Amino acid sequence: MARFMTQVIKDEILEKLNLEYRYKLLNENLIPILSEDQFDFLKTIQEFCLKFEKDNNITHGPEEDIYEWYPYFGKEGFITRQHNFEVIGENYNQYGLAMDFMRTLALDFFDPQLAMSFGATVIGINPIYEHHENVPVRLEALKELVTGRTPGCLLITEPERGSDAVHQLTLCEEQNDGSFLLNGEKVYQTNAPKSKWAVAYATAEKNNGNKMAQFLINTSWEGWNCERVLIPWVPKLYLGKENLVNLRVPKEYVLGGVGKGRDHLFEGLIPERIAIALRGVAESWGALSHAIIYANMRKQFDKEILFFQGVGFLLTDLWAKTTHLTHALLKFCESYDDKMRKYEGNLPRNISESMVAAASQYKYSCAKLSERVCYQCANVMGGAGLCDNTLMHDLLNISRIQEIIGGARQIHSFIMSRGLRRMFRNITT
Ligand SMILES: Cc1cc2nc3c(=O)[nH]c(=O)nc-3n(C[C@H](O)[C@H](O)[C@H](O)COP(=O)(O)OP(=O)(O)OC[C@H]3O[C@@H](n4cnc5c(N)ncnc54)[C@H](O)[C@@H]3O)c2cc1C
Repeated sequence: MARFMTQVIKDEILEKLNLEYRYKLLNENLIPILSEDQFDFLKTIQEFCLKFEKDNNITHGPEEDIYEWYPYFGKEGFITRQHNFEVIGENYNQYGLAMDFMRTLALDFFDPQLAMSFGATVIGINPIYEHHENVPVRLEALKELVTGRTPGCLLITEPERGSDAVHQLTLCEEQNDGSFLLNGEKVYQTNAPKSKWAVAYATAEKNNGNKMAQFLINTSWEGWNCERVLIPWVPKLYLGKENLVNLRVPKEYVLGGVGKGRDHLFEGLIPERIAIALRGVAESWGALSHAIIYANMRKQFDKEILFFQGVGFLLTDLWAKTTHLTHALLKFCESYDDKMRKYEGNLPRNISESMVAAASQYKYSCAKLSERVCYQCANVMGGAGLCDNTLMHDLLNISRIQEIIGGARQIHSFIMSRGLRRMFRNITT
């Protein structure tokens, strides 16, 4: 892993910090709780990443373009495994949230920024999957996104409407032929400058959540104007600020007409939030795998630093916390998959409401976990945790974003407090 300008960490340690050993450390931890199928799938993706890294001399250095890797991962079906995608002829055997957990773990270890970029494509894929209605242009877009022929993006946030996502200002105006004209501004859309397909929300009346609609957009259409927003903590990701000017969306690209937008926004909340939680856990394992290997090899005062309690006990604490959340999240994913199969994708209201609250809890807890674990692991590695010789600084930086995306920390606290109210009402009436 020669991603550095100047090597600081000695060869012997750097060699043991490579992807293969980090995967081995992860697998040691997961083998007791994974099913055979899950473990096999995890190993399949790990082997692909190891070979891909070696064959292409990938260093994860600043000059590499993660977007160039999309088609290779897409061809293997590693952009998303939330569904089997039979509808576009893919028919993956391993799918569902638990299998997507395996995909996330392997990819995040390989490159955390790539994993985050795929995550943003997936939140564009899911609404098309739910609302393609067998319309050929929608299926074609779905196929291109799932197989990595292009990244995708989702346009919710606006310059003046962030957390308050249902009182949008971007307008959609229906035309006589059933097409719509969109006008307004969006901001912070991950992948937007690189995406061929975008899914966007707009409203027929400003600030009215009941008038929201949802659209599939080809970014080559006239009226799509996008400039890059640089987020220095994830310098390889291209985020967009879009100015939509009389952007005409033909009828067959309207995923949800006026009045349906808000329901469409809420229906995908469980997998979207869980996907961020999965990345938080994967980032924590990524950081731990570096720090544990390093602490077992780095000597000070003639002893491996692991044997100093300040280091060893800190790592055991982070390790225990990460293990707990991994087990809990896997159980949640498996239950979600079982229930989705049992109810054929339409969860009963009481189960769905409880799971929405749980998804908020996991997103909240895993984002916090990632922020603490990545920081503390980097810190415990001293200078080696901060220089560019490993992926530690990518992990540290990306961990600071998790509490903002997919609903900021305070918003999840708010949602959870509403959940407490709902629970009280349910048990007392
Ligand atoms: C790296 C990155 C990637 C992103 N990717 C996407 C994407 O792909 N698509 C997309 O549409 N958006 C994306 N976003 C936008 C992201 O979802 C928003 O930044 C987020 O929802 C917060 O909105 P805001 O930035 O406008 O902050 P604001 O909503 O202005 O919030 C500012 C602060 O006020 C707090 N706050 C707001 N309301 C309340 C309240 N009622 N109670 C308590 N506290 C409150 C917030 O918690 C926050 O701390 C991305 C953002 C980043 C940074």
